[in-house]
Amino acid sequence: MNSPSESTHGSEGKKAQIRAIRFAHPGNLMARYFSEDYFNSLDESKRARMWQIIKTGIENPDSQMGAYAQSSGDYEDFEPLLEPMIRDYHNIPRDQEIEQKHDWSATTSNCNLEDIDPVLNGVSMRVRVGRNLAAFPLPGAMTKAHRLEFEVLMIKAFTALQGDSQFGGTYFSLTPGSSHVIDADAYQRRVAAHQMFKDMGGDPYLVSAGISSDWPFGRGMYVSSSEDFIVWVGEEDHLRIMSMRQGGDLAALFGRLHDGLEKFAKLIPPFAHSSRYGYVTSCPTNLGTAMRASLHLPLPKLTEGGSHLERATKAALDFGLSVRGAGGEHSDAGQGGLVDISPRARLGVTETEIMQCLYKGTAALWSLEKTS
Ligand code: ADP
Ligand code: MG
Repeated sequence: MNSPSESTHGSEGKKAQIRAIRFAHPGNLMARYFSEDYFNSLDESKRARMWQIIKTGIENPDSQMGAYAQSSGDYEDFEPLLEPMIRDYHNIPRDQEIEQKHDWSATTSNCNLEDIDPVLNGVSMRVRVGRNLAAFPLPGAMTKAHRLEFEVLMIKAFTALQGDSQFGGTYFSLTPGSSHVIDADAYQRRVAAHQMFKDMGGDPYLVSAGISSDWPFGRGMYVSSSEDFIVWVGEEDHLRIMSMRQGGDLAALFGRLHDGLEKFAKLIPPFAHSSRYGYVTSCPTNLGTAMRASLHLPLPKLTEGGSHLERATKAALDFGLSVRGAGGEHSDAGQGGLVDISPRARLGVTETEIMQCLYKGTAALWSLEKTS
């Protein structure tokens, strides 16, 4: 435990670091909106909580957001800091209410990438939602015992799902000694197939936030026998629930996720959700729908053969899309300029609007690629 003078000294050092980051890394939203007056107004216990939330953005100055919530109450308790960051990222003006509505109606519409170009009928499509249970701390603040208890609860639900004709499958655990444990080679094959998440210890943003602590305890994945419905346990959120397929039928992909999500949610305790921020997630970028719908799209011209993401990133922004490397966040473009594109906004938009944004944005980006 620090003495008051030590902790005051520590605070002054961190404030100075944040001032330096604000100058050198203007994209770091935590540094942009951190207010010393607000921090000074907090009591000791809230100050300690705040440092935990923004530790990642101080230790990783190149962070885009620079904060990970540690408990679902953080969004209300630290609103003066987090709300402006959330508005900035999700592009919600100050005079507009933040409100999250859900609408999955587009899953019954006709939305096929092959109508943009027949060659897009074989792209890799993925849509995931993040979910956290209200009954547990968010992953950054979980103890090892919480992580193990959470996994046991999920295994019960997966066992109940096992016999389902549409979503039946297998759970693979990374927890040493688990009766569901997967060996290292099989795990690596699942990672290479983009089905399973990477060793979280390799992600400095997650390490600083405590989200990767106790790796690999309490981590694992469920995959349906059809291999297109997947649930991650113990990554950046308690759960990442997704559908992944090769093809072009976006509506069918969304429909598959929606059906699986409804079925699975009935088997587990309630998710953390607020009318204002929607589904509560570790990272403020994921609030709302907590949905990221992505395509692995080859953009050889816009990425100059895969060597640079800058031009594609800039062009995609105009269509509301973000660009990542094909290996996931913080990776480079893959062979042939393969990139991961996904609608940037997740809060204040519905699930249907995200699907439509992906479709329209892909059409626009694809036409730019072809005429470049
Ligand atoms: P998220 O945060 O949405 O889970 P990440 O960027 O962390 O996404 O990537 C997680 C994994 O999902 C990576 O292996 C990435 O390559 C894979 N992935 C993302 N989108 C697709 C896609 N459309 N097709 C195949 N794999 C994908
Ligand atoms: Mg991720």
